[in-house]
Amino acid sequence: MSILNRLLPKTLSSTLLFVVAAIGAAAAIVVAVQQASEQLLRRDAEGTALTWAHFAESSVEGLQRLLIDGELGESTRRDLVRFRKVQDVFRFKLFDREGRPVLVSDDLDGPAVVGKTQSGAGPAGIGHGDERVKRVVLGGANHIELHANGHNPARPARYSEAYVPLKRDGQVIGVAEVYVDQTERQARVRAAFGTVAAVVFALLAAFAVWGWRRLHSDRIVRERMRYLARHDALSGLLNRTSFGEALREAAWRRSAGGPAFAVLCLDLDHFKDINDAHGHRAGDEVLRQVGARLQTVVQPGDRLCRLGGDEFAILQSGIGSVEAVSQLASRLIAALGAPYEVNNRTLHCGASIGIAISDNEAKNVEELMHQADLALYRAKSSGRGVFGFYDAELDSQREERNRLACDLRQAIGTDQITLHYQPLFKADGRQLIGYEALVRWTHPTRGPLPPAQFIPLAEEIGLIDALGAWVLQEACNAATRWPSHLSVAVNLSAAQFKHGDLVAVVARSLDASGLPAKRLQLEITESILICNTEQVVRTLESLAQMGARIAMDDFGTGYSSLAYLWRFPFDKLKIDRAFTQHLGNDDKVDVIVRSIISLAHSLRIDVNAEGVETEGQIDALCELGCDELQGFLLGRPQPEADLEHRTNPSREARGTPGRSILVTDGLRSSTEADTVG
Ligand code: C2E
Ligand code: CA
Ligand code: CA
Repeated sequence: MSILNRLLPKTLSSTLLFVVAAIGAAAAIVVAVQQASEQLLRRDAEGTALTWAHFAESSVEGLQRLLIDGELGESTRRDLVRFRKVQDVFRFKLFDREGRPVLVSDDLDGPAVVGKTQSGAGPAGIGHGDERVKRVVLGGANHIELHANGHNPARPARYSEAYVPLKRDGQVIGVAEVYVDQTERQARVRAAFGTVAAVVFALLAAFAVWGWRRLHSDRIVRERMRYLARHDALSGLLNRTSFGEALREAAWRRSAGGPAFAVLCLDLDHFKDINDAHGHRAGDEVLRQVGARLQTVVQPGDRLCRLGGDEFAILQSGIGSVEAVSQLASRLIAALGAPYEVNNRTLHCGASIGIAISDNEAKNVEELMHQADLALYRAKSSGRGVFGFYDAELDSQREERNRLACDLRQAIGTDQITLHYQPLFKADGRQLIGYEALVRWTHPTRGPLPPAQFIPLAEEIGLIDALGAWVLQEACNAATRWPSHLSVAVNLSAAQFKHGDLVAVVARSLDASGLPAKRLQLEITESILICNTEQVVRTLESLAQMGARIAMDDFGTGYSSLAYLWRFPFDKLKIDRAFTQHLGNDDKVDVIVRSIISLAHSLRIDVNAEGVETEGQIDALCELGCDELQGFLLGRPQPEADLEHRTNPSREARGTPGRSILVTDGLRSSTEADTVG
């Protein structure tokens, strides 16, 4: 069986087994029926012969004389003639006790009737004492022979010869060989046994079919389970475990002088947006289609895997050159970038790919996968829809980032993280109206780090909620210590809107600090409104209802879509410092800023200009009708302890007409900040 299993596919071998078993069962049934019907016919023949003998013994006069002395009287002959055809008997022979033939019924009509001869040779040509007869005389079993008649027209199609004893007074005086016609009898027996055999065979066949199907469906279930253990159910691609095996095998071949190979880690871009906007079913369908597209792009020997979520991996085997890998990556990106039709909707999502090649100095496949992962990370952060190869420098950057992430985790809640406050002034009269809270991290070994370095990191590693909540609470607490007309502005990152409890976090900060909501200003950037606008707008509405004021930060840098301005009634719009910088030098910038201000005013939105560094900029902004000013010239971000809450003197009052201060980084030139503030 085990050899059969090895040689043949499972289903085929089990089918074969059943066919062989069925044939065997059928043959056994046929043999059994054959034997049983023969047995029955023998008994029938014997019974008929015994009855015949019994009658012959009692009714044939002179039978004893005939058998012992070989004398056949006329009356005996007449009697015997009557016995030639009784019921199914159509012929008979008589033998004496020694088995010598005495008489054959066929000869009863002839002139010379057989008599017993001393030599034992009878007229029928039968020789010395017949052994069969001797056995019957000696008291053994009666001898029965079944015959099927092919040619002899004088004989029935089916008959038996039964050797039975002839007795007188309990003594055997001879033996009769009685020919019994069993043609009809056999037909009846055959019919009866045939029916029984057919029923038995049908039952066996039904049982066999049931058994086979049972075995077959068990096998299908087992095969399905084995398949699922190795494949991803959604996409039908290999799962992580079996992909790892394929990788190890490729690595082993490589170490034994086999071909080089590449690992491509692939991650879908904006897949999360599809899931969020269209639901998980649509997301699953996209993943299925991605799996199918991947299969059309790779070569036959390549292996495909879904690592989980929207991450896939490809093992490209037998690569001849790096160029071949780049070509595959380009083809993959092109294939996955085409639109997806899902439920009559057209969805878009691209892919980024990171690649590691077997001949990098990776020690094992885990390290190779890690390298491809690092390359993917870099590809994603350098803009999506691209591929990149691993290089060692990447590794150290990544390690550096991991260390920083670890440090940041520990820094939150300690005095390494603090807030600085940058003053905001009314453009008209330079009255101080509040401060923008800006977070600072003084790293124990690296010193002060700019928010641009750790805010994105906090977003990425999921720390932004904790950090943002801390900033909110700290800023609200600080503002309660300031004169009551001063407000505090807090920056919110897009990630804080994702988890839905921002409203509660803000409410808690106000509650705990006792700061009136109207003194809190929340700054958001356009990027928040790009995806999932409905939810964001609802959150903003709740915050506004609470009484907080909402400002749009960095206006003009991102998508600058004016559409966002009417989607939500902002209280304030902050013109990015990139515009402020060029005011007065570039007519086009003047025109843009003028239109932004007039548009905002027509929507009853106040305008703040960030990054004011020169008196010329102040003049231009005032002339354009800007409402608020903020910048190093008027005040740098400072720790709370250093705040003086003073109105900023005008140019005339300071007596420094047109003074221009060139400062680029508030963090690195704090001494200069002191002189400005
Ligand atoms: P932002 O909200 O636009 O903040 C203003 C940034 O411009 C601050 O940089 C400030 O120091 C700088 N700045 C102000 N006036 C001038 C000027 O006249 N010239 C120049 N060159 N720069 C000026 P900072 O503190 O490095 O913050 C950078 C960004 O980090 C902020 O930009 C804000 O987007 C983000 N950020 C800061 N604190 C937080 C925070 O607590 N939470 C969140 N989510 N983001 C924050
Ligand atoms: Ca801001
Ligand atoms: Ca800004």
